[in-house]
Amino acid sequence: MRRGVWIVLFVLAAAGAMPLLLGQAPALTLVSRDGRQTLPLVVVNNQDYVAVDDLAGPFGTTAREAAGGLTVTARNRTIIVTADQPVVSVAGRLVSLAAPALRRDNRWLVPLDFLPRALGTVLETRIDVRRASRTVVIGDLRVPRVVTRVESGSANASIVFEMSPATTPRVTAEAGRLIVQFDADALDLLVPTLPQQAFVTAIAAAGPTAITITTGPRFSTFRSATSQPDAGSTRLTIDLLPAGTDAAPAPTAPPAPAPDIRPSITPIPAGGLRTVVIDPGHGGDELGAQGPNGAREKDITLAVSRRLRTLIESRLGLRVFLTRDDDRTVSHDDRSAFANNHQADVFLSIHANAAVRAGIKGAEVYYLSVERADAEARRRAEDAAVTLPALGGGTRTIDLILWETAQARYLEQSSSLAGAVEQALRARVEMSPRPVQQAPFRVLVGANMPAVLVEIGYVSNPEQEQQLTSAAYQDRIAEALLDAIIRFRASVDRPTP
Ligand SMILES: [Zn+2]
Repeated sequence: MRRGVWIVLFVLAAAGAMPLLLGQAPALTLVSRDGRQTLPLVVVNNQDYVAVDDLAGPFGTTAREAAGGLTVTARNRTIIVTADQPVVSVAGRLVSLAAPALRRDNRWLVPLDFLPRALGTVLETRIDVRRASRTVVIGDLRVPRVVTRVESGSANASIVFEMSPATTPRVTAEAGRLIVQFDADALDLLVPTLPQQAFVTAIAAAGPTAITITTGPRFSTFRSATSQPDAGSTRLTIDLLPAGTDAAPAPTAPPAPAPDIRPSITPIPAGGLRTVVIDPGHGGDELGAQGPNGAREKDITLAVSRRLRTLIESRLGLRVFLTRDDDRTVSHDDRSAFANNHQADVFLSIHANAAVRAGIKGAEVYYLSVERADAEARRRAEDAAVTLPALGGGTRTIDLILWETAQARYLEQSSSLAGAVEQALRARVEMSPRPVQQAPFRVLVGANMPAVLVEIGYVSNPEQEQQLTSAAYQDRIAEALLDAIIRFRASVDRPTP
């Protein structure tokens, strides 16, 4: 009897008081044109995995075991997964993953980056994993990241939403709550846990593209305003006010008119330059170089990258993607993998430099050094001497182009891109005495397209630190890089004899 009582109590506890501790397996939300689905997560050794058999429904994959490996097929293209190997063959190309594939309890588990790096490639679809909100965006959807914070005082409270990319919000009032509706396909939403407050008691998602703010006992009216801290984001501030406030209530915030950034777009000839990936250096825990007055490289690179994106989109009408559009940590390999998955035609990694001597200044352009790339290629080739299971059984050595050494094939074009960047920068900003250099930058090694890394100035130099944080200098850099892309495009579009 006693045992029975305990079981009942346990079930009650699981159902009521501790839903987050018991019974709720972590899951990802998949967002696509077709709607939303849930994909269970499996955590092994602190690493997020998904089961291959769970991918069949959402992604239409089929899987078959052969010779100790697993072949996953989608759109008639094949991914070969090998147990305990952190590398998969994707349509004949070797792709490294964050962790080894695992075979557990008759299921195959693959790390989360299998989705963008392997599946996204064979499906030719952008797959974007947003780890913080456990959201996976499939296809080119507008899914802004929305970060929420509440600032509360004794007399009022403000709720601030930061949306990136920029999105138009609309605020309406209903009994006991405010609804914020976003112009988007879905939201990547981060909401803080709220302590009980006089003006606001809860903030929660309401459907795929709206947020509900439940107002508290002291709330009487509100006013809201949108601003654009930079081209890549929108800030919505909602002030919650008590009764007796003079502020004219604003039932609906007039949305800020979105700047028309896509005037006449010149069609890009087939085979020409269509997609640019910009890589804002560092981010999140990785601050990068820091200036004597506290400027941080990670902030400068993101600001310049967003300005450049706006320029390229508006003037050239090319597709532009940023490897990060907010303050987050991204590994070097994920950055080049992102460019590869988006089939970028050009990869620009943006950095700011630092030197021990404060006097050193000027911009520099880098492309990958040949010697190191060759050495790396040889080392990787040895690493990759794994026999992979072949279709139809048995094993074979697959003729692979190593993802990690992809850049080796583009050195000539990267050198000409570096030249174009140097010329364009020289016309606008001070250059270092060694304006074009080669170096074994990890972020360039895996890029499967012409790629350069631009050090836009020395943040360690007080004068340059001041420049690098100014809108005027950031615009000059963005203009120069736009100009470089135009020059480079002219060279690649020229028909080859
Ligand atoms: Zn850097």
